[in-house]
Amino acid sequence: MRIERQAQDTLTAIEMDLGDELHFTLASGAVRRLKLIHAGAAVTETTVETPKVEKAGAVTNYRFSARFEIDGAVYNLVRYVSSAKSFYEPWHIMGMHIWLDAVDKIFDFLTETHGECKPKKQCRLAIQDATLRICPVLLHPWCPLPPDRLRVEDAYNGEDVWMGAYHGASAHGGLDINHPSGTPIWTPFAIDDHELFNSLAKGDNNNRWRGTHRWSNGAEWVIQVHHLSRLYVPEHKPIEAGTLLADGGGVWVGSHEHSHFVFRVRDGGGEVLLDPWILFWQMYRDRTITSTA
Ligand SMILES: [Zn+2]
Repeated sequence: MRIERQAQDTLTAIEMDLGDELHFTLASGAVRRLKLIHAGAAVTETTVETPKVEKAGAVTNYRFSARFEIDGAVYNLVRYVSSAKSFYEPWHIMGMHIWLDAVDKIFDFLTETHGECKPKKQCRLAIQDATLRICPVLLHPWCPLPPDRLRVEDAYNGEDVWMGAYHGASAHGGLDINHPSGTPIWTPFAIDDHELFNSLAKGDNNNRWRGTHRWSNGAEWVIQVHHLSRLYVPEHKPIEAGTLLADGGGVWVGSHEHSHFVFRVRDGGGEVLLDPWILFWQMYRDRTITSTA
């Protein structure tokens, strides 16, 4: 299948099957042709006895890859989960930033029972013109940013990065960041509408918040934070970027106080889940820009 997309002022989230060819038009007008020719995943180490069966304390690490032919040249992109490399730099290829987000082969050895995260096609990625940010505004930190970068050891048990193997068996449908109960959660960008879609007040086991923002190009970004102990802004009230939204880390936190972050993009009809790390990656870059300006 041929897929046509044009670089916009928000990143492009896309899912592809083998043989699909993405024609991506850069801001310059040049067209890059990306054909998916392979997608694979393999366990690199595990302590589970049976794949897909959770065991407390078990660890499963894996790698996944996608091979693209881009304007005739072959590129093999490889990711490692869960590891320090889970917080990765996008590939910078022929004027594009490419984030390889997932392949469906991961679910040969992990389940999707710990939050939605399985791609609907064989490969999921995000692409942006490398001269553009992932969105047109600077991003405010979502929570206090650890110095320099996120650390895998602070992702719950060191495993709950995006699609990390919870208890060695279930892909984690979110990014966990350990921080004490009461840690401030801010809005990284303006929020048009928001609510606690699960709440202790309504009898759920957790306070789970969701907010949405529609960009001027029509793309809609949806973000979630779970384990909130207090929400400061009344539900369904628009919120400016950088507003104190909530206290994080304090409800149904298991063995480590943490908040759970989710990111999804609705663009061109479909909805695509992406690693919240991509937002944090831009937040770190934006802090560099603002502190040196
Ligand atoms: Zn989580």
